[in-house]
Order: sequence, then C-alpha cells, then structure tokens
Amino acid sequence: MALWNRYHTPATVDDALSLLEKYHGAAQIVAGGTDLILDLQQGNHHPPVEALIDITRIGGMDGIMLDGDVFTIGANATHARIVRHPDIRRRATCLAESCGVVGGPQVRNVGTLGGNVAHALPAGDGTTSLVALDAEAEIVKDGVRRWVHILEMYKGPGQSLLNSAQDLLIRFRFNACTAGQGTAFNRIMRPQGVALPILGCAVWVQLADDRQTIDDVRLCIGPVAKTPTRARETESVLRGSPATEDSVRRAVAVALEELHPRTSKFRATAEYRQMMIDVLLRRTLPKAIERAKTGEAEPEINE
Ligand SMILES: Cc1cc2nc3c(=O)[nH]c(=O)nc-3n(C[C@H](O)[C@H](O)[C@H](O)COP(=O)(O)OP(=O)(O)OC[C@H]3O[C@@H](n4cnc5c(N)ncnc54)[C@H](O)[C@@H]3O)c2cc1C
Repeated sequence: MALWNRYHTPATVDDALSLLEKYHGAAQIVAGGTDLILDLQQGNHHPPVEALIDITRIGGMDGIMLDGDVFTIGANATHARIVRHPDIRRRATCLAESCGVVGGPQVRNVGTLGGNVAHALPAGDGTTSLVALDAEAEIVKDGVRRWVHILEMYKGPGQSLLNSAQDLLIRFRFNACTAGQGTAFNRIMRPQGVALPILGCAVWVQLADDRQTIDDVRLCIGPVAKTPTRARETESVLRGSPATEDSVRRAVAVALEELHPRTSKFRATAEYRQMMIDVLLRRTLPKAIERAKTGEAEPEINE
C-alpha cells in the first residue's frame, strides 16, 4: 500500500496553508522527511496520510540571517547549513554544536531545524540549544500567524503545539551573543549512535563587565521531563556567583538535586543519565564561560 497518494510542492506559505486546508487534516507537512517518512513506513502515523505537502521549495524558508544582534533562521534551514554558517558558529556556537551532531551527514544534509522542533522530542539536539538561546518560533496556528516562546512549542513527548496537518512553523529568532556572552553544547551518546542522545546540555552565559562574575545564565539539560525545560534552580544559584570552578561544582550539586531523568529502554537508565548530568555540566558550563571571557568561539563537534 502506498504511504501517501499525492505529493505537493507549494512555492509560498499561503499555498502550503491552502493545501492543508483543502485536505481537511488528511495531508501532512514534510520537510527533510527524516522523522516523518520513518513514522509512515513503520505505521506510527495516524490517521493515514492522503497527501504530503513538501515545504522545502518555499522561497526564503531556509534563510539564516543576522540583522543587528538578532538571528532569524527559517524552519527549513538544514542542520548542515546551520553548522557551516560563520555567524552562527561565532555568535550562537551552541546551535552549531548541536546541529553538528544530529544523525550522520545524510541526515544533516536534509533534516531541518523546524522538523527537529515540530517533532517535539525533548531530547532533540537542536531544541536543547534553542531553549538555552531563549528562542522564539513564528508559527501559523489555527490560521493565526504569531510568535511563541520555544518552550510553548512542546505539549508532551512527540506532541507539538502545532498540528502539522494544518499548522506551519515558519522560522525562529533569538539574540546573537554579544561581548561578555558565550554558549556551548555537549551531549552523551551511545557509541556509534546516530540518533537521539542519552543526554544533551546547552548553556548560555553572560558575565559582568569585569568578566569574573556570572550575571545571567540559561541551562537546558534534556531529556529530564516530558518537554524540554530549563534548570531554573541551578541557574539561580549561578547568577551572581564568581565564574570559577567552585561555582561550577556548586551548580552540579544543585542540578543533581533538581533534575530527575527517567530510564529509557533504548538509551540509558535513570541512574546513568543522572551521573551524566555531572559530566555534561562540568564539560559545558566552563566552555561557555571561557567563550564569554575571551570572546572567541569555535564549535567543537564530536560526531
Ligand atoms: C538516522 C537518524 C538519526 C537521527 N539523529 C538525530 C540526532 O542525533 N539528534 C536529533 O535531534 N534528531 C535526530 N534524528 C531525527 C531527525 O533527523 C531530526 O529531528 C530532524 O531535524 C527532523 O527534520 P526533518 O526536516 O527531517 O523533519 P520531517 O521528518 O520532515 O518532519 C518531522 C515532523 O515535523 C513536521 N514538520 C516539519 N517541518 C514542519 C514545519 N515547518 N511546520 C510544521 N510541521 C513541520 C512534519 O509534519 C513531521 O511531523 C535522526 C533521524 C534519523 C533518521
């Protein structure tokens, strides 16, 4: 049996939305297809799909722009393009680092940041960095175009705010790092794995003018809940603390109290993940602090 009967390649957002409307819920958006086609093949998609609406031909929806200090990234930007973008590498380094470990080269060449978020898994690598960057997403939901905070995009594991049979994610925006700010991402992965991580961690940090004190910080470690979350208690302990190893140690102790990952039969036990919180924070937080101090950032991508 065919997995779908019709395939459309609209050239504009309006055309895509009209097509979705025409099919009354029996069509589905497809971007890179790295998640969706597997779901269709494995019969995980209900109800069956009559048509696929391929949004990758929509002009401008894969753009990556830095306007002043604000990045805008189209939902269709592939992981590979994000990794290569010089401004992202320098001023949103954690995002380059997270997109750089998604799957293998074939997946990164077609898989998109929009698909990563719309698929709504709390372990999505792109997601983890977008949360640390405090990103917003522009969506069309129930016919209304608006910006929502990235955390509002998630309703449960694999459950997005969007219904991809009628809604569309258009683009993301977030602030680029400026002087005294730095980011980093790291993840723990099964050896030779090319799928979701055991645990990922993204950090955004802003140091005070003296570059010795943490003024502000955002931490996203996941998955530790049904939707992506910030480690808010750990963040509050770090705010106002000296940017030293001692503070990192204190942050680890608080994070171990605050965060409670669950066992996944495909990835790791809760106990192992809990231990990895310690490992990841000690790797990621000092790197973000160092980048904020020096203003130098070159993504480290461990594939
Ligand atoms: C071998 C393999 C390895 C992988 N490894 C990783 C990994 O290491 N880390 C990781 O995070 N992920 C991984 N993934 C998952 C996947 O590749 C990513 O989540 C990717 O970013 C999905 O993007 P896509 O464009 O392929 O999405 P698609 O498969 O095209 O779409 C995914 C879902 O989102 C919806 N959708 C897509 N774009 C939009 C939009 N603009 N508006 C509304 N709905 C939309 C679709 O309808 C579908 O429901 C892997 C997948 C494979 C097959």
